[in-house]
Amino acid sequence: TLPLPTTDTRSTCPYCGVGCGVIIESDGTQITGVRGDPDHPANFGRLCTKGSTLHLTASAPVTMATRLLQPRLRRGRGANGQRGGPTEVIDWTSALDLAADRLAEIVRRDGPDALGIYLSGQLLTEDYYVFNKLAKGLLGTNNVDTNSRLCMSSAVAGYKRTLGADAPPCSYEDFAHADTVFISGSNTAWAHPVLFRRLEDARKARPDQRWIVVDVRRTETAETADLFLQIQPGTDVALYHGMLHVMLWEGLTDPAYIAAHTTGFDALRDTVRAWTPKEAARVCGIQEVDLVQAARWFAQGAGRTPGERGRTLSLYCQGLNQSAAGTDKNAALINLHLATGQIGKAGAGPFSLTGQPNAMGGREVGGLSNLLSGHRDLGNATHRAEVASLWGVADVPANPGKSAIEMFQAAADGQIKALWIVCTNPAQSIPDQAMVRRALERAEFVIVQEAFSTTATAAYADLLLPATTWGEKVGSVTNSERRISLVRPAVKAPGSTRHDWQIAVDIARRLETRLPERLNGQTGQTTLFPYDSAESVWNEHRESTRGRDLDITGLSFDLIERQGPQQWPMPEGAATGKARLYEDGVFPTEDGRARFSAAEFRPVAEPRDARYPFSLTTGRLRDQWHGMSRTGTLGRLFGHIAEPVVEMHPTDVARRGLQDGALVEVRSRRGSLVLPIQSTDKVAPTQVAIPMHWGEEVLGGTDDKGVARLGINGVTLPTYCPTSKQPELKHAAVRIEAV
Ligand code: SF4
Repeated sequence: TLPLPTTDTRSTCPYCGVGCGVIIESDGTQITGVRGDPDHPANFGRLCTKGSTLHLTASAPVTMATRLLQPRLRRGRGANGQRGGPTEVIDWTSALDLAADRLAEIVRRDGPDALGIYLSGQLLTEDYYVFNKLAKGLLGTNNVDTNSRLCMSSAVAGYKRTLGADAPPCSYEDFAHADTVFISGSNTAWAHPVLFRRLEDARKARPDQRWIVVDVRRTETAETADLFLQIQPGTDVALYHGMLHVMLWEGLTDPAYIAAHTTGFDALRDTVRAWTPKEAARVCGIQEVDLVQAARWFAQGAGRTPGERGRTLSLYCQGLNQSAAGTDKNAALINLHLATGQIGKAGAGPFSLTGQPNAMGGREVGGLSNLLSGHRDLGNATHRAEVASLWGVADVPANPGKSAIEMFQAAADGQIKALWIVCTNPAQSIPDQAMVRRALERAEFVIVQEAFSTTATAAYADLLLPATTWGEKVGSVTNSERRISLVRPAVKAPGSTRHDWQIAVDIARRLETRLPERLNGQTGQTTLFPYDSAESVWNEHRESTRGRDLDITGLSFDLIERQGPQQWPMPEGAATGKARLYEDGVFPTEDGRARFSAAEFRPVAEPRDARYPFSLTTGRLRDQWHGMSRTGTLGRLFGHIAEPVVEMHPTDVARRGLQDGALVEVRSRRGSLVLPIQSTDKVAPTQVAIPMHWGEEVLGGTDDKGVARLGINGVTLPTYCPTSKQPELKHAAVRIEAV
């Protein structure tokens, strides 16, 4: 038999927020290869280990065996009254009718806020748009949130508090223009590998470029730093306040910029007065001289003569975001940029690195429980009226929706009766798994809409709806630098899978007939969901951005096809997108000025103590992705690191009479797991680190009291930032005991 001809399809990698362009090779029936797209401005042809093995994880037999290919129904409960019994195949019409019937019944009986819809940063912008319109427009509940809450919501809140809008102001090309790169709470080398290669290129081209890395753990990124500050967990705000103190003392701020473009500096100056470098260094657990050096390099640019101001670019990620003080941390770092005028210039600015591939696109369409389409706010009556008018509904409810942790806590408490979980695995990824499992058990009706049938959450579903995934669907995603790219299908959807936005539309149209009272105010349309393609959804989203900070009315799918991916904003009439924001020093606030944040330092939510004397942090491995539903199917990706370990400092290992490689129990106030020790000085004394990827399949079992072990997030802390509602996944107090 002659081999089928190979076809190339341009698309985007689904793994992380770098948003690398890929070319998918397929033979008409399956994906046979993947290579980097040399013309994509995010990666210029490069891919990391995960991206370059996408074809092996996409259509390998072992992956296909884990795919959910038909709707499935789980009738009743198991013998013990718990979920988890067998499922049976049902047809799509029955599945969609059942979903609509049960959701409508619960809305009529308990009100729309008895529903919770939980989405994913893996979804395409079009998927997000339809789900948000369905919840906030049709059903009248703002209980729609996403796993981006666990990832980027502190970055969102930090930008909005200080700069006025959820808009990363920089571009990847700024790496090449920076004099100082300040990497804080990000293991870029592993979490965003292709960006790290671009950083290495930048330093090679300009050997005087200096890197400062701030982290609790001596990561692979930290190993490359010119200056590494190994701070105590959660002390980032103290560090930034201390650095600003030094800048003020040494006259390194930019008073002209502060006077012309900002407000609130006096209050911040009062706050940082107490943060002498000595005090800040003490709290952070670092050398005072290093803190002073960091402040000077940040303010002046490294390797320059005194008085000449260089450019400083900050890169940051989950070390700042996944914190009970996440918004304060983000804002305190942005303070440094505003105080030194390091923003709105090539090579300067605060630049959050997005975790998931489309966390940005989700935010653009209002994909969090406190947001609305086009970067509008739910708490703003004018914004609600604008969106209601765009959607053709009477109103959008004003009451705040529940964020991720609140949503599952409400389901565990019996307030939320139905959960619709789409493209994500909360039974592994949300902290305090015991609470999450109570929620999934207690909910009356659980829909899991997924590509994979083997996730921990799928076991709790009453109804499983099979969705297409990467390589099978078309739509758009936005990466960390505001660049909108397309993903495209290279093969046919397998089985009877359907696109996520289509499933949402099919259920929404059924709900329109079952809940006609929800359509009051509709302006003569027969349905609020008249879409026949992903592009038709996107076109409606595009209109919702008109006049907003992310205006993309000058963009179309066709233009992206012809001119390549573009950065927003790109309003009607613009020839291209915009590489850099705030070059004119005008910010999207009421008075056009950026706002300093004078928030005080707050320590971690659960400090270590005599009973739980270690600080646990979690992190990403280079070759694994989230809960491993893709990467876990490929043996090659375990070549780098094969199994989870708990990293522990050699002095702690010796002091406790433990051995490198010995099994220990790691226990927090919420749960426990058992792991081998890896003795290493990458972590500081009294701190331990565990990779985030493994769930109960590997780290399961029961403890000596018969309590289930539920993976790494059986141990982590659900306490969240009061502003961003992002939980403190990066720190929990634990104890370590031999088993
Ligand atoms: Fe994919 Fe991220 Fe790797 Fe690029 S850096 S290939 S987007 S995982």
